[in-house]
Amino acid sequence: MSEAIRDVVILGGGSAGWLVAGILAADHGRSLRITLVESPDVATVGVGEGTWPTMRDTLRRIGVSESAFIRECDASFKQGSKFIGWRDGGAHDHYHHPFVLPQGYLDADLVGGWLQHPGVPFGELVSFQPHLCEAGRAPKQFATPEFAAVANYAYHLDAGKLGGFLRRHCVDMLGVRHVSDHVTAIESGDNGDISGLRTRDHDIVAGDLFIDCTGMRALLLGEHYGIAHASQGHVLFTDRAIAVQVPHADPEGPLACQTLSTAQRCGWTWDIGLPSRRGLGYVYSSAHTSDDEAADVLRRHVVATGGAEPDGAAMRRIGIRPGYRERSWHRNCVAIGLSSGFVEPLEASSLVLVELAATMLSEQMPATRATMDTVASRFNDSFTYRWERVVDFLKLHYVLSAREDSDFWRDHRRPETIPDRLRAMLELWRHQPPSRYDLPRVDEIFPSASYQYVLYGMGFRPEARTGGGPSRRVDAAAKANGYFREAAELSRRMIAALPSHREMIAHATRHGMPRL
Ligand SMILES: Cc1cc2nc3c(=O)[nH]c(=O)nc-3n(C[C@H](O)[C@H](O)[C@H](O)COP(=O)(O)OP(=O)(O)OC[C@H]3O[C@@H](n4cnc5c(N)ncnc54)[C@H](O)[C@@H]3O)c2cc1C
Repeated sequence: MSEAIRDVVILGGGSAGWLVAGILAADHGRSLRITLVESPDVATVGVGEGTWPTMRDTLRRIGVSESAFIRECDASFKQGSKFIGWRDGGAHDHYHHPFVLPQGYLDADLVGGWLQHPGVPFGELVSFQPHLCEAGRAPKQFATPEFAAVANYAYHLDAGKLGGFLRRHCVDMLGVRHVSDHVTAIESGDNGDISGLRTRDHDIVAGDLFIDCTGMRALLLGEHYGIAHASQGHVLFTDRAIAVQVPHADPEGPLACQTLSTAQRCGWTWDIGLPSRRGLGYVYSSAHTSDDEAADVLRRHVVATGGAEPDGAAMRRIGIRPGYRERSWHRNCVAIGLSSGFVEPLEASSLVLVELAATMLSEQMPATRATMDTVASRFNDSFTYRWERVVDFLKLHYVLSAREDSDFWRDHRRPETIPDRLRAMLELWRHQPPSRYDLPRVDEIFPSASYQYVLYGMGFRPEARTGGGPSRRVDAAAKANGYFREAAELSRRMIAALPSHREMIAHATRHGMPRL
């Protein structure tokens, strides 16, 4: 092993492995030799179909065409999530978490202004994007260039196809070496670093830095190095998922432009619209319900939402261990993707963590082994912070629910299951809205606006201060109302000007989008 870091070996060819390969190869060109080893015997997890808007920058950075991505990954546009039934399960219980910031977010006291409009949902008053989603509009026009947006967007995609799409680009265009082989043993150097991966047919693949992208098995960081898994099962209880793919009832009909997340008795279901099919799944807690009951819930949900009853054999079961490794970077090994942790699919936080980890690794790539530990320590601090914030944010969705239909929801409200920091924030937010002071880092995954959408969407109300609403600013209501009018006007104009989501996808697939 050389002192300079030249050979990077990625173990695992799921979404994580190929995203890391793409980012490193695009950024470093020939100054790094990148090899990706993936087993032909171990399938990828095959789920993970909702992304965060960061994926647009990632794909652009890797150098792929967005039109080719839409075509080859059966991708559609995602403008946020719609939460149905999370508050109390009543007839009109829904709210939106869109990707655009509220209109005038940094300028006005929108929360104080919103309190003057009783009965109007927060997200629908402060943002135009929920209205675009409900009207089935795309976030861009035919003439909008690739990766550019009229309204901020992410993607829904076929997880099985993403790996293959990235692999072809990484191998053909970026010079990544691909080894299809099963790793049978890990070779160590005298200093305890990994020196190589012993494979069945390709002997030893040697390297200076090893990226563990082996999924939940965490072959390098977990099995080889024994870095402990910090369980979060006492905070977030969902530990199983059951997934199914169903055809659209009308293949030419409206295509959802947001993830539909519906609360169920012991968890929640996702519903993701791809151009050619829907992907649905039920994430549930095995301590609160049985696998058979869960399959029944999913079956009934598919039928209730217009799908044909799925066959039991078509349903895939996936185990989840909510939690993350105590550290992601140990010696010359970095875990990225499911190997570093997974909490649950709510709010699609997993692929964005892969993108952030790969980006930080790439930008901070140590030049030599001697500087690696300093970079590793920073990386670990950063990702411990991120995991903690992901757990807080996901717990926020459960903790405010008034659902009483099972112990799953009641248990989520038990104070001892709420992380201390979140509990302190909830106390603070009784008097002031979530702000950048609560989420001060540059690369927060979920900014304060996301907390506002969920908090107020879930029915949380700040306490009125002596002397009026939550704002002390005298012109607050007039200013906020101006922004609410702006959001309404934008939504009216955009609904008139934007194509339907289905039309936009069909156009991008057939004719492509302009490249800059
Ligand atoms: C139910 C569920 C829903 C999800 N939904 C979302 C979502 O909506 N949005 C989101 O962002 N994320 C989601 N995720 C997470 C997302 O699926 C993952 O982050 C993503 O797929 C990355 O997985 P991975 O590449 O880390 O692991 P995997 O896909 O499991 O890949 C592991 C790789 O390691 C290789 N490997 C393993 N052992 C060996 C060996 N001995 N030798 C060689 N190779 C080996 C395998 O061949 C495979 O290529 C979801 C996860 C679950 C469980």
